[in-house]
Amino acid sequence: MKAEILAIGSELTCGSRLDTNSQWLSRELESLGWTVARHTTLADDLEAISTEIRSAPQRSDLLLITGGLGPTLDDLTRDAMATAFAQPLVRDPDAVRQIQDLFAARGREMPQSNLRQADRPRDAQTLHNSCGTAPGILLQVDRSDRQSPCLIAAMPGVPAEMRVMFEQQIRPQLPESSVALCRKVIRSFGFGESEAEQRLGDLTARGRNPEVGITASEAVISFWISARAPNRDSAAELCLATEQEVRLRLGDAVYGDGDTELYEVLLQLLQQSSARIAVLEGAATGGQIGLWMSADARSETVLHEASLVRPTTALADRQQPQDSTFEQWQDQVRSQCHEYFGSHAVNGILLSSGYFDEQQPSGVIVRRGMVAAATPDEIQFRDVSMSGNLRIFRQRAGRTAINLLRLSMLHQIRP
Ligand code: ATP
Repeated sequence: MKAEILAIGSELTCGSRLDTNSQWLSRELESLGWTVARHTTLADDLEAISTEIRSAPQRSDLLLITGGLGPTLDDLTRDAMATAFAQPLVRDPDAVRQIQDLFAARGREMPQSNLRQADRPRDAQTLHNSCGTAPGILLQVDRSDRQSPCLIAAMPGVPAEMRVMFEQQIRPQLPESSVALCRKVIRSFGFGESEAEQRLGDLTARGRNPEVGITASEAVISFWISARAPNRDSAAELCLATEQEVRLRLGDAVYGDGDTELYEVLLQLLQQSSARIAVLEGAATGGQIGLWMSADARSETVLHEASLVRPTTALADRQQPQDSTFEQWQDQVRSQCHEYFGSHAVNGILLSSGYFDEQQPSGVIVRRGMVAAATPDEIQFRDVSMSGNLRIFRQRAGRTAINLLRLSMLHQIRP
């Protein structure tokens, strides 16, 4: 079954507010087995909104609308629904009473303009708003070319009110899907998007069930597995089989699922092994690792020290690179770690260098830097040079260092 979502409001189209309602509704619908095929965002324009609403039943079985149900003249959803299907607006006496009661409960007089909110197209049903003044509207539109009607539901724009109305009044009225969806997100670090796709091979083929989508964000590659089946159990089974295959093909590059962050996985590993680490950061990560870790309560037992340090090599001064620049830093790290392990009770150290920008003959500027992860037995270095934004450079460098230590701990746990 196909659905679409229409977000209404000039504050959305002019960019002052992000449309989070469509994202939330899409997730809800997908979890119920619906396919959301279209998101539309429109300014407060009667003709554009009514044209969009009128055309929806030709494409979809469900149209969810948010916004434009307020009391002011630029709240046009009611009028647009009535115009779209050539129905007059009628005032719903129950809705009038609800709005009056709400103002009475707040000890305020109801402005006459709020009565507009009790209007609905003649054949529609009013949906009670238990958290605000704007009632919703539910309308079934018969279609000559299909057996089932198209369901159109309009909800308030305020996200909290919209969610309650969807959960309490719209979800129970949705026709049951003959398809159950199970979705799982797996996160990995260490491959680029293309390399990950190559390793997954046929798993990412279009039209496959489960579908495997790949997204990249700040060097984390996420795999979205979506399995569809006649019931939840079969969908979950299909999803699990593909998840296992993805994990097998990507090995230890997979570090978690859902919204898990790499530093959380490292903190957990450290806690499980009763290990402690120090984080000594130069400008290449600029305190990012310490910031991530200290935001997690587990850092109290696991983090011995998190400091910003100024490397003594040329990297600190962002001088023009010399061939030996990184070698100097590596030598410095080796003696620093040797000393540190000798004088502090830690099992690991994460370090980052300073950074400098290097202009390539092509004109592209590459930001150069290095990270290291040390255990008493070994020190691993990684070049984290890349072009682009400093924030992304630091996050990627920080994750690279964290990942090195995560992998080295994993190998210690299961050699
Ligand atoms: P109300 O009568 O409560 O104002 P409404 O249906 O008229 O409801 P709007 O006036 O369009 O809703 O928006 C109310 C608030 O909700 C505004 O702060 C708006 O920015 C926010 N909002 C509207 N649409 C969305 C959306 N799609 N995603 C996130 N926030 C939204």
